[in-house]
Amino acid sequence: MSDKTCTKCGDAYDPAEAREYMGQMLCEDCYLDAMSPTQVCDPWAVYTAKSLKDLPGGHDLSPMQQKLHDLVKDRGEVPMAEAAAHLGLNEDDLRREFAPLRHMEKLRACKKDDIIHLTLF
Ligand SMILES: [Zn+2]
Repeated sequence: MSDKTCTKCGDAYDPAEAREYMGQMLCEDCYLDAMSPTQVCDPWAVYTAKSLKDLPGGHDLSPMQQKLHDLVKDRGEVPMAEAAAHLGLNEDDLRREFAPLRHMEKLRACKKDDIIHLTLF
């Protein structure tokens, strides 16, 4: 057996059934859940909901969040990887910057052709 565990539910999974989703290894159940139609256009809804309690009370954008918002506003739609590269961030950092923006309903993520795009809310 393996010591691998699902990023989402924490259960050990059979490596043969594991799926990669958004850079996380998920068990098959969580993967199917993540891929369900209601979440296809908002894959970070769960992630951002979990982050709510960690947010500071204020709604001020950090300089990096402002840059991200301006970038998406200028382009209309930016692939996540491109936005990260543009801001000099890796994807994890970009997600951290993105989460509060989604909470504030300024930006959202949309999946197209297996690529996550950031768009205005
Ligand atoms: Zn799972």
